[in-house]
Amino acid sequence: MTFSNLAKYYEQLEATSKRLELIDILSRLFKESDATEIGKICYLIQGRVAPFFEATEIGMAESGVASAIARAYGVDKEQVVKLYRKLGNMGLTASKLAENSKSEARNSKLSVAEVFESLRKIAEFSGEGTVENKVSTLAAILQKVDPISAKHLANIPLGTLRLGIGDPTVMDALSIAKTGDKKLRPLIEDAYNKTSDLGYVAETFFKYGAKGLEKVELIVGKPVRPALAERTPSADEAVKRLGTEFAAEPKFDGFRVAVHKNGNEVHLFSRNLEDTTLAFPDLVNGAKLELKCKSCILEGEAIAYNPLTEEFLPFQETTKRRRKYNVEEKAKELPLVLFAFDVLYLNGRDITQKPYKERRKLLESIVPADGKVMRIAEERIMHNSSDVLKFFNEAISEGLEGLMLKKLDAPYKAGGRGFHWIKFKRSQSGDLSDTVDCVLLGVYSGRGKRTDFGVGGLLVGVYDKKQDKFATISRLGTGLTDEEFRYVNELAGKLKVDHKPARVVSKVEPTIWLEPKVVLEVYADEITKSPNHTAGEDENGIGYALRFPRLVKFRDDRQPEDCTTVDEILKMAKQQYVKKK
Ligand code: AMP
Repeated sequence: MTFSNLAKYYEQLEATSKRLELIDILSRLFKESDATEIGKICYLIQGRVAPFFEATEIGMAESGVASAIARAYGVDKEQVVKLYRKLGNMGLTASKLAENSKSEARNSKLSVAEVFESLRKIAEFSGEGTVENKVSTLAAILQKVDPISAKHLANIPLGTLRLGIGDPTVMDALSIAKTGDKKLRPLIEDAYNKTSDLGYVAETFFKYGAKGLEKVELIVGKPVRPALAERTPSADEAVKRLGTEFAAEPKFDGFRVAVHKNGNEVHLFSRNLEDTTLAFPDLVNGAKLELKCKSCILEGEAIAYNPLTEEFLPFQETTKRRRKYNVEEKAKELPLVLFAFDVLYLNGRDITQKPYKERRKLLESIVPADGKVMRIAEERIMHNSSDVLKFFNEAISEGLEGLMLKKLDAPYKAGGRGFHWIKFKRSQSGDLSDTVDCVLLGVYSGRGKRTDFGVGGLLVGVYDKKQDKFATISRLGTGLTDEEFRYVNELAGKLKVDHKPARVVSKVEPTIWLEPKVVLEVYADEITKSPNHTAGEDENGIGYALRFPRLVKFRDDRQPEDCTTVDEILKMAKQQYVKKK
């Protein structure tokens, strides 16, 4: 496929935010694509040249892109900048100048693969001469494409493509492209949950069909979408779901880490599948020295502790380790222990389909009970709710967050929430059975003291999985420290957009809309009905809202699609009334 043809699809995709239309356009695009290019196209429509967990960012600053445009069309950089100020978008600027230029690129035959390779090169340049190399490579491809292609090509390195296509939309479109309907979506999603790599999944699907997807297994180095826990309003309810014999482990309040080990090579991934290997040298070393296996993928919760008193530290301390600078120094000051709670892959074999109790045995064979860095999470077998409450109270008195209850015969469910894991958490007033993870959608400017911070309130929402959209659920202005208000202000600077983002559904208008990126954990007294918010909105326009919401903490280990879903809000709303009766 030529890049020019792909750019025509970019145009159509940009013109709509309706999910069904997006799926229709994408499925037509995919139908025209062959197996050698489908993977690249899947990355490119999300403005990338690699799966999102690879740190390969095309990233160029405005000034660099302006230089490339100037060079491609033989004009002064000043002229580019002036036009950019007028048009407000670098892509439009490139397109306008391409129209005026005498280049013969209008019938450009440059292929998607060629453009992809150039963009990948731009992403990979490093060291001396990086800026110049990036500028000249971008200029060279801009010169060879038509004005519409130039528009999108200039926006990709800046991250300003405005297509708003979520992964679920791509997966639906892949199925429709090959079968005419969505019936293969679950199979595509399974393969995606195991590898987190849409390009790889699409290529496998186009090369080997549904059979090929069925054979996709975990791959060391590609993060697995984590299994998630359900909640129940009481221990009795949990026991009903789990039967007369089940496991319980402490619920540690740190951050989730997936360890991928292959010989002496170790990679770490966060809860939101970011590669965090460089941030935690102590965990990497611990994995190399203490894990007794050739290769494995295991999961655990990392907690900071005070080596002098051997006490585990609260989340606020642990989270100080999640930074990108002074890494070694912080590792000495606040060493981490990883409490391993599951193993998904061992010595060359994907073991996610084995029952929990067998995986646990294998975990015990590779993780020491008392390692310096790697330790196995305590496990107790439970039979009834009084066993649960006893262990729960013990865990709470040790400053832990609560318990995780686990079904003994359940496989590991990558990317899925289910009653195979039930979280049982301490909750401040006992009204809601859990906190809500919200996504930050906008900010309101501050009044009074808060004018100093710029931001006075936040608009937050939850994820509507069926629609692949974000629906609003609350305004939030309580529970934030001065420092946190300043942090939100900083975020607002980075994420602000001049219009409501394509995937947001809202009846309220904040002062500034933000790209849905940041997740925060919110505690509320109750979930109530509300005509103002779109979460779970019924045919009469009544949705749900949080009553007396306050911030618990920022969850920068989560992707926006990992926040609480509308379906969960509906369930939690029901559960709170059951509990009150
Ligand atoms: P929540 O973030 O409240 O939905 O709870 C799920 C999270 O608890 C997981 O993503 C893990 O990071 C964390 N966790 C802590 N201890 C455990 C455990 N023993 N088993 C599984 N997850 C745990």
